[in-house]
Amino acid sequence: MNDILPGEVATWQELEAAARRVFRSYGFSEIRVPVVEKTDLFCRSIGETTDIVEKEMYTFTDKGGTSLTLRPEGTAPVMRAFIEHKLHAQDPVAKLYYMGPMFRYERPQKGRYRQFHQIGAEVIGLDDPRCDAQVLAMLDHYFAEVGIPDVQLQINSLGCPECRPAYRQALVAFLETRLDHLCDDCRRRWQQNPLRVLDCKVPGCKEATAGAPSVLDHLCGGCADHFAAVQGYLTDLGTVFAINPRMVRGLDYYTKTTFEMVTGNLGAQNAVAAGGRYDGLIRDLGGPPLPGIGFAMGVERLVLLKGSPQAVPRLDCFLATLGSEAARHAFLLMHQLQRAGLQVDTDLEGKSLKAQMRRAGKLGARFAVILGGDELAAGRAQLRNMDAGSQEEVPLDALRTRLQELLAGGEA
Ligand code: ATP
Ligand code: MG
Repeated sequence: MNDILPGEVATWQELEAAARRVFRSYGFSEIRVPVVEKTDLFCRSIGETTDIVEKEMYTFTDKGGTSLTLRPEGTAPVMRAFIEHKLHAQDPVAKLYYMGPMFRYERPQKGRYRQFHQIGAEVIGLDDPRCDAQVLAMLDHYFAEVGIPDVQLQINSLGCPECRPAYRQALVAFLETRLDHLCDDCRRRWQQNPLRVLDCKVPGCKEATAGAPSVLDHLCGGCADHFAAVQGYLTDLGTVFAINPRMVRGLDYYTKTTFEMVTGNLGAQNAVAAGGRYDGLIRDLGGPPLPGIGFAMGVERLVLLKGSPQAVPRLDCFLATLGSEAARHAFLLMHQLQRAGLQVDTDLEGKSLKAQMRRAGKLGARFAVILGGDELAAGRAQLRNMDAGSQEEVPLDALRTRLQELLAGGEA
């Protein structure tokens, strides 16, 4: 679980602000849900035999004897809130986004932490393939907006309760012939959760399942048409994608379209964002039979890909003073400038003028105001442009306007 320190936080704020900006263009509203939920919510939605539920949840019993879990993902809590507050009664179509910490007890490594953060979006109430295409186009737009290059959008279809059982059967039969080559986890999975075997990172398993039947050859007419339409709309929108028939996703609630945004720049952790359609989830959680689709992006992985520019945050103005009268006046002046929206600092430690100017430099001040007893008596101050090294004399009562003028003109 990481601390996010002041220098890195700028990148986080930028990524969050870009999400708010981009998602708003597509009509999404923010929803905020608690970080803990009843354990049962995750078991029922994500699935009992998934890695998350089997071994990654932070689960505890509270003082009232209720089993609670720190949320490992955001979709189930958002659906719980949607159902609990009957948001469908106001509007059966909802576009929601969220951001915040998630918790999974995993082995920490680059790009994988126990507390991590996701920015996610969900569309409820639409099963039209245009909706899938729009969600994917929005995800693609976000990556372009924040300037993360070298990512590839991969899509697949996992079918529906009509066609998945036959595929599952075909896959189980295939895996049975390969059992000797599979890792222990996969040998356990092949009957319980056979699709997950295709997602195993162990090289031997990848090799052994190279010729596995493809889910795309087993889609029913409805799912095949839907998937073809999604691809058609993506092409219309100019959203570039690749089809990856082995992408299965680690959560049980997915149906039809699934997708990942992958990169080669994160080592073993190649997915930066992932999601899919979950047409049965809301009904399974006790809500109306509404379809849904959504995704979550891992913020830590976005930050790793974006890199921290380490641009030193700059101060508009530092007030350097000589003598106690000037210091007293500067303290008031600082307050007035701050109330006018400028970023201002002054010396509160009684440092020498030279040390104060050094501090102004360290804080990245664009301007320094130098105020001594004589200047104060004459109602004037020296205004120094720290980047240009030039200096001008300004009447004290015109200082704020002059500073604002200079800052707005970008003359710094
Ligand atoms: P992975 O295959 O990398 O384990 P996942 O399929 O478990 O990912 P999802 O549950 O789909 O991931 O979560 C969506 C995104 O959240 C991932 O693409 C990733 O960017 C991020 N994410 C998931 N788990 C972690 C983690 N433990 N630490 C940091 N980011 C994570
Ligand atoms: Mg995982």
